[in-house]
Amino acid sequence: MSKLLSPGDAARPTLERWLTGPRIAGLPMPEAGSAPPKLSFEFFPPRTEALETQLWTCIHRLELLRPRFVSVTYGAGGTTQARTHATVARLVQETALTPAAHLTCVGATRDEVDAVARQYWDAGVRHIVALRGDAPPGTAYAPHPGGYAYAADLVAGLKRVADFEISVAAYPETHPTALSPQDDLDTLKRKLDAGATRAITNFFFDTAVYLRFLDRCLAAGISAPIVPGIMPVTNVAGLRKMSTLSGVAVPDWLYRMFDGLDEDLETRRMVAAVVAAEQVRLLQVNGVDEFHFYTLNRADLTFAIAHILGVRPA
Ligand SMILES: Cc1cc2nc3c(=O)[nH]c(=O)nc-3n(C[C@H](O)[C@H](O)[C@H](O)COP(=O)(O)OP(=O)(O)OC[C@H]3O[C@@H](n4cnc5c(N)ncnc54)[C@H](O)[C@@H]3O)c2cc1C
Repeated sequence: MSKLLSPGDAARPTLERWLTGPRIAGLPMPEAGSAPPKLSFEFFPPRTEALETQLWTCIHRLELLRPRFVSVTYGAGGTTQARTHATVARLVQETALTPAAHLTCVGATRDEVDAVARQYWDAGVRHIVALRGDAPPGTAYAPHPGGYAYAADLVAGLKRVADFEISVAAYPETHPTALSPQDDLDTLKRKLDAGATRAITNFFFDTAVYLRFLDRCLAAGISAPIVPGIMPVTNVAGLRKMSTLSGVAVPDWLYRMFDGLDEDLETRRMVAAVVAAEQVRLLQVNGVDEFHFYTLNRADLTFAIAHILGVRPA
C-alpha cells in the first residue's frame, strides 16, 4: 500500500488521500444523464415446481429493470418444447415483458418446426432466437432429412411463417465445428442476410476477444448489433467442463479468483459480481451499450451488475 503513496501523501489527511488516490474502479463513469444501456435477460424453462417458483421470483425482480426482451431457452434437441412454450406463454399473459422464444431445428422436420413457430405467433410471441442446436453428446451433427439444415435455413423458414423479429447466435471465439474463423463469420452473415436483425454472442471472459470479433464483423460487412452475452460465473468447476465443449477460453486468472472457494458459495457470488462488473464496465467504456445476461434464473447478480451499468428499477 505504501508503495502507492507519493512523497507528499503522508502529510495529507487520510480521508482526502483515500478520496483522491488510486481507485480499483478507475474506469471513467458514463456522463451524468446519459442513456443507460439496453439489457436483455435469458432464462431456462424450469424442471420442477421449486425451480418454477425460483424463476418467477427472478423474473419479477428483473422486470423492474425494463429489459428490451427476455428470452427462454429450448432444451437440447427440443426436449423442453412444452416447458419453453408454457414459460413464454405465461410471460405474455402475466407480464409486460417482451418474450423471445429460442427455437432449434436439430432433429425435426420443417413442418414440425413451422408448427411450433406458428403456435408462438398465435400466442402473441413476435421474437424468436433461431438456432441450429446440437446433436446428442458423442455424435456429429447431421441435418434432419426434410428439416432445416442450419440456422440460416431456419431463419429463412421462420420469415416465411410470419414476420418474426429474429436473433441468432454468434461466437467471438469461433464455433467449435467451424472450418475457420472466416467460415464462422460467413455463417453469421448468412443468418443475418436471411432475415435476422441481431446476434447474441456466446459468453466470453476475455473482453479483447469480443472487441476484436466486432472489428472482424465490421470488416466482413456485418452491421447488425452483436450483443455481448454476459455470464456471471459462480461455478468454475462447471465452467471448466462447459468451456471444453463450447470452445470458450477460461483465463487462468479466473480460476485463481475462485481458488479455495469450492465450499463457499457466498464468497463465490461476491467474486462473480466483481468479475462480471469489471467486464461490463470495460465493454461500456469501449462503447458497448447493449448487454444480454445469462441469468441462470437468479436475479441477484444480474440486478447488481445492471445497477453498476447505470440501470435503475422503474
Ligand atoms: C445466444 C445463444 C443461445 C443459444 N440457445 C440455445 C438453446 O436455447 N437451445 C439449444 O439447444 N442450443 C442453444 N445454443 C447453442 C447452439 O444451438 C449451438 O452452439 C449449435 O452448435 C450451433 O447453433 P447455431 O445456431 O449457431 O448454428 P449455425 O449458425 O447453423 O452454425 C453452426 C455450425 O454449423 C456449420 N454450418 C453452418 N452453416 C453451414 C452450411 N451452410 N454448410 C455446412 N456447414 C454449416 C458450421 O460448422 C457452423 O459453425 C445457443 C447458443 C447461443 C450463442
